[in-house]
Amino acid sequence: MAKRIRVKDIFLAETDKNYTVMGWVRTFRNNQFIALNDGSCLANLQAVVDFEQSDPALLKRITTGASLKIEGKLITSQGKGQSVELIAENIEVLGDCDAEIYPLQPKKHSLEFLREIAHLRFRTNTFSAIFRVRHALAFGIHKFFNDRNFVYIHSPIVTGSDAEGAGEMFQVTAFDLNNIPRSEDGSINYKKDFFGKHTNLTVSGQLEAELGALALSDVYTFGPTFRAENSNTSRHLAEFWMIEPEVAFADLTDNMDLAEDMLKYLIQYVLGHCAEDLAFLEQRLLEEEKQKPQIERSEMALREKLTFCLEQPFERLTYTEAIDILKNSVPNKKGKFQYPIEKWGADLQSEHERYLVEKHFKRPVILTNYPKEIKAFYMRMDDDDKTVRAMDVLFPGIGEIIGGSQREERYDKLLKRMEEMHIPAEEMSWFLDTRRYGTVPHAGFGLGFERLVLFVTGMSNIRDVIPFPRFPGNAEF
Ligand code: ATP
Ligand code: MN
Repeated sequence: MAKRIRVKDIFLAETDKNYTVMGWVRTFRNNQFIALNDGSCLANLQAVVDFEQSDPALLKRITTGASLKIEGKLITSQGKGQSVELIAENIEVLGDCDAEIYPLQPKKHSLEFLREIAHLRFRTNTFSAIFRVRHALAFGIHKFFNDRNFVYIHSPIVTGSDAEGAGEMFQVTAFDLNNIPRSEDGSINYKKDFFGKHTNLTVSGQLEAELGALALSDVYTFGPTFRAENSNTSRHLAEFWMIEPEVAFADLTDNMDLAEDMLKYLIQYVLGHCAEDLAFLEQRLLEEEKQKPQIERSEMALREKLTFCLEQPFERLTYTEAIDILKNSVPNKKGKFQYPIEKWGADLQSEHERYLVEKHFKRPVILTNYPKEIKAFYMRMDDDDKTVRAMDVLFPGIGEIIGGSQREERYDKLLKRMEEMHIPAEEMSWFLDTRRYGTVPHAGFGLGFERLVLFVTGMSNIRDVIPFPRFPGNAEF
């Protein structure tokens, strides 16, 4: 194909020269003004057609959604609203689009409707902005860790270990489900399955990342994870991406520092790299908020909220301290929580997390030292034998964005905890080996990528920040 210039670049290109652009028609006004978008940036390029000189049959084919190749001269714009425009000299229709049936009309569509046409929603301003921001965040994550000499580990997607996600894992099998091999006692004979054992899709790359950290010191994973939990919420997906750094020679404080530095770096990164998209998403959010009753509206605009998070140190406190605050809080006393906080040991729900962040501290919060009963077996036991060195990072509008801990590096304590929690040590011998052979204090966490994208874009449903969401009852596309 002819060499093309991206729309993003043409805005900065020298005028009075000829260029070729390619993209999709957003609108075609008065048989004269084409708004062309190629996804390289939010703004459309205005191409001006000389309709008196043009073939009427061609003009008819320039419809919303059609793809065009336009060659012409770039000039300083005479009209308002754009700095430059392209005087079209040659227009070629690459792909026609029947405007009568094209689902994306040049008007406002609801997010719910767009979710049903996720294959086309990339072509809207909102979704192209979201996915450019998502890209920038992914790139920023790799940059953050690479600059700090972390090694990117690809943890397996098919896993033979189900220690972490019992009950909420998707099974992986090559069996013909109508003809499953059985043992003599009638149980399923997984020895005959593809891997010779029962396998699942991973719920987390952490255990494997630990193995890497105990040799490479600083590692991270960034990959898809799968949970068959039936949480039909605006914060849960069945398939989501997780970033899991794991650091040797580190304790809980180091872990909190890393999490806070990383989140601030990423917010800063997006503010610096996606200014135009964030401005657009901020406006979108303002309009959405206008539909809500006054008390539910956010006090801050999107970029203000992002900057605010950068400037504040995250509030750090223990679970025990948080329980005291929640127990004595107004909503708890007035029975406003769906799950009232009665005593120490209660698992915190998103409503409690958001109360702490949005109402009490008015900034991101890191909660630490949770009761061992509500946390995973691998978290390091505190001296009181009641709490573990867990940390959850809580964000406004989101609740938990990161869950992590200092890991139990002491062999005997880890083994005891596994026994208490009925995790078969034989199947986890590879994990226990790291504690047998040169164990070291280490810590890590998991950041839910989509929750971060949700926060940064100001969207309210996690299904709108991943291209093709998977959730109960839905695996379209
Ligand atoms: P939650 O209590 O919100 O369900 P969790 O305690 O199950 O979270 P972890 O197992 O600690 O979460 O996973 C680490 C991070 O992964 C979470 O902090 C969150 O950001 C993200 N996460 C967990 N489950 C989901 C999900 N179903 N969809 C999207 N992100 C998720
Ligand atoms: Mn969960």
